Amino acid sequence: MADFGMADLFERCPDLAVRETRTVFVPPGDALPAGEYGFLENYCVDSSCDCRRVVIRVCNAQNPTVALATINYGWETEEFYRGWFKSAPPDEAAEMARDITGTCLDLINPQSDYADYFLALFREMIAHDADYVARLARHYREFRRQGNPRRSGNTNRQRPKRRRR
Ligand SMILES: [Zn+2]
Repeated sequence: MADFGMADLFERCPDLAVRETRTVFVPPGDALPAGEYGFLENYCVDSSCDCRRVVIRVCNAQNPTVALATINYGWETEEFYRGWFKSAPPDEAAEMARDITGTCLDLINPQSDYADYFLALFREMIAHDADYVARLARHYREFRRQGNPRRSGNTNRQRPKRRRR
């Protein structure tokens, strides 16, 4: 469950990402600079891994390459994620599972002075918007499906030729 090997939903499912990426408009006078912020979704590219989590990069719409917050979130139960941290001591595994289901700021990836604010905003969204949570899980499945295109027919297989007598 390492944090390398994530890719942006925009890379793999651009149409879906354009249609369904959550954006939040912040009016003037708030704690954040006014503007539009996108909650860009990144998912794991390892097709043999089923870690069921998203890494959200929060960016200003004017400047989508700069992450103002990087948030980890897993929508499954704590028990599910404890299974991912089997190699860690049980109390650490429990803590990591609690962090990811509760949402947390990523320790490796960029943050900004506004990171805690965006984390609070994201927690609000998932606490009150079950559709959004379901959408993230659906995007994860679609992202994986796009990464594992079904092979169309096994054209390389040589048919044993029947010998004529
Ligand atoms: Zn993974």
